Amino acid sequence: MTETKCIFCGWANRALVGENALAAAFRDAFPVSEGHTLIVPKRHAVTFLDLTEEETGAIFALARECAEALRKGDASIGGFNFGANAGACAGQTVFHCHFHLIPRRDGDHPHPRGGVRAVIPGKAAY
Ligand code: AMP
Ligand code: ZN
Repeated sequence: MTETKCIFCGWANRALVGENALAAAFRDAFPVSEGHTLIVPKRHAVTFLDLTEEETGAIFALARECAEALRKGDASIGGFNFGANAGACAGQTVFHCHFHLIPRRDGDHPHPRGGVRAVIPGKAAY
């Protein structure tokens, strides 16, 4: 079901950086790093647990396309963080499923080890 009030249900009115039949990609309004991209299902779904297999596949395929395009256009990108916050306790603030694709560059963090493990302070390094 489409929720017209959801800000990401309005994906069609955004400046998209990519799309396929079931997913759309646009830049995050408050980027963690230059090129920070959000990949969303076109259909309203709250978290990745609500996606169909087809939507999951479409999102991953689009994320790969976006990552390749970003890397092609910016040689300083050496890697990515890719993931979704599912549920308020996990940090989700927009309740239309979205995957963050965050370009990473050497030196952008003094201690990058652990990456997404840093969601809980002090737990990144192991
Ligand atoms: P999350 O905390 O995982 O729900 O992430 C929500 C993301 O949406 C954050 O990275 C925000 O910067 C981003 N965001 C919030 N409002 C907008 C908006 N109007 N357009 C694009 N990105 C947004
Ligand atoms: Zn929505």
